[in-house]
Amino acid sequence: MIWNETAECMDAEQRREMQSRRLRDTVARVYQNVEFYRKKMQELGIEPGDVKTIEDIVKLPFTTKKDLRENYPFGLCAAPESQFVRIHASSGTTGKPTAVPYTRKDLDNFSECVARAICCTGGTNKDVIQIAYGYGLFTGGLGLHDGATKLGAGVIPSSGGNTRNQLTLMKDFKSTILACTPSYAMFLAESLQEAGIRKEELSLKIGIFGAEPWSNEMRKKIQEGLGLTAYDIYGLSEIMGPGVAASCAVQDGLHVAEDHFYPEILNPDTLEPVADGTVGELVFTHLTKEAMPLLRYRTRDLSSIEHGSCACGRTTAKMGRILGRSDDMLIIRGVNVFPSQVESVLLEVAEVSPNYVIIVDRQGTMDTIEVKVELDERYVPDDLGDLERIKETIKHKLNSVLRIGVRVTLAEHKTIERSEGKAKRVVDRRHI
Ligand SMILES: [Zn+2]
Repeated sequence: MIWNETAECMDAEQRREMQSRRLRDTVARVYQNVEFYRKKMQELGIEPGDVKTIEDIVKLPFTTKKDLRENYPFGLCAAPESQFVRIHASSGTTGKPTAVPYTRKDLDNFSECVARAICCTGGTNKDVIQIAYGYGLFTGGLGLHDGATKLGAGVIPSSGGNTRNQLTLMKDFKSTILACTPSYAMFLAESLQEAGIRKEELSLKIGIFGAEPWSNEMRKKIQEGLGLTAYDIYGLSEIMGPGVAASCAVQDGLHVAEDHFYPEILNPDTLEPVADGTVGELVFTHLTKEAMPLLRYRTRDLSSIEHGSCACGRTTAKMGRILGRSDDMLIIRGVNVFPSQVESVLLEVAEVSPNYVIIVDRQGTMDTIEVKVELDERYVPDDLGDLERIKETIKHKLNSVLRIGVRVTLAEHKTIERSEGKAKRVVDRRHI
């Protein structure tokens, strides 16, 4: 089912005209109401009249997370505070927090986009959706909640954590859709046995997972563990929250709600646009946001974009799955290393589980990288030689993917800390 055929199956030229009109309105509004953008545009020597079509977007200034922090809380807002009906915020782990206000219309668009996203994965108003994303300042919980309510699905607002209870509710209330982070889905799958529940007793059909990068191999493990089909949902609070994009039944990319957010993929070094299918940094411009419209917001997420129609019937641009973050990228002995590359390798090795941590250190002037991974609970080694053989296999595979030497250590099952939100995969001791 397609939630909004007019918006999602629009012809390319019609969409381009709509995007151009909405971009012109947004630029005019921020130029008039947001000093930050007025100054930036003046520095670049452009005026709102210079932006006529969506292609003129390349003339506009960028916005970064740093700009949001420096203008905390409401310095980038284009609407009066009296029109805010909700404010989400990110935690301030690396400095000041960032605030993201919404007007009534912004929240309506939010739930519209989430309803589209749930339908995109195959959900309908007959489904029972268990929302195990955190409720609160984080947009995951409330975002999915409002969208599922708009769709008319049954909502179980279980929020994150309390895993045993979560599984009991899942069985008793016959949840058909699970929405959470992929690492928590993995943890729920692992905890089934302990809770004395068999996956056959669950009614799950669809998993809507997002908020952190994950590999295809992890997807397979989650699908097998919980007996569902897993789909990606993408979003970020600065742009809206979940529902900016979601994967469809074709499972070849995530449809972007392009009538609300214009996506670009840029070379992260030169900030020039790259061709369709090429990996680069994902950048979004708001086309309808009232409270805090952002121009060319640099997400730091690495992805690619394809235009054209999809076998599902939608014509919206599709972004690839997130491959990592340009700022999560570790530079070890001059080599770029992404945690997602390490995860893909580990998931190919049957004897280990997808629970791992990457420890980066420095000995003298030399960077070292260690990958610590748990053995799979079903695996019983015959002798110590077996463990050595597994380590060598992983080392060899990592070496061919990363092109640097990696130390591998094996840990007992369930000795690496689990996360109920986003998993912490990297410990970088070089700065301590
Ligand atoms: Zn599709």
